[in-house]
This record gives sequence, structure tokens and C-alpha cells, in this order.
Amino acid sequence: MKAGAHVYYTSRWARVRWIALRRDGFACVKCGARGRLEVDHIESIRRAPERAYELHNLQSLCTSCHSIKTNDEMGRAPNLAQIAWKTAVAELARPIGERTKKCLRV
Ligand SMILES: [Zn+2]
Repeated sequence: MKAGAHVYYTSRWARVRWIALRRDGFACVKCGARGRLEVDHIESIRRAPERAYELHNLQSLCTSCHSIKTNDEMGRAPNLAQIAWKTAVAELARPIGERTKKCLRV
């Protein structure tokens, strides 16, 4: 089971996640991307379970920035192929009109 699963399946998480996304303007706080966003625990649930629902401990990240942060925390080099794949899949999941210009030029 993923660390923190007991948090992610609660209605309390759904609420606080939504508030964090809205606060961050539905954009990645690192790069400003607006595709698929994940709400990250700045201090991980494993490290600080008491902060799991704390708004100040949450930030909206795109899948790429989240992967980079997670790999960094785990002491792993970023998996660039995985990041490129996740980014492409997230982009394709968006309506055509909302895709980035870079994607439309392909
Ligand atoms: Zn980002």
C-alpha cells in the first residue's frame, strides 16, 4: 500500500486537496504548468503524519515537478524518460484546446 493511503481515501483529504489547488490557482507552484496536478506534501506524510491535512504543508505540482521532488527526496536521480512519458500522457488527457502550444506544433 502506498505510504499515506489512509489519508488519500478520506473526504477530509478531498476537501483540503481542493482548497490547496484553488489557492495555487490550479497551476504548478514550481513551473506554472496547468495540466494534471498533484497535491504534494512538502513534508512527507511518512515524516510528519500530523501535518497530512495542513494547508501550509501542501503545494500543487505538475507530474514532472512532483517526480523530480520525489526522486530528490528518495536520493534517486530523476528518471527523465519516466517524466517525459508522464508529461505526454497528462497532456493527451487534456482537451485539445487546453493543450500547450508546444504540443500543438508536433
Ligand atoms: Zn511543474
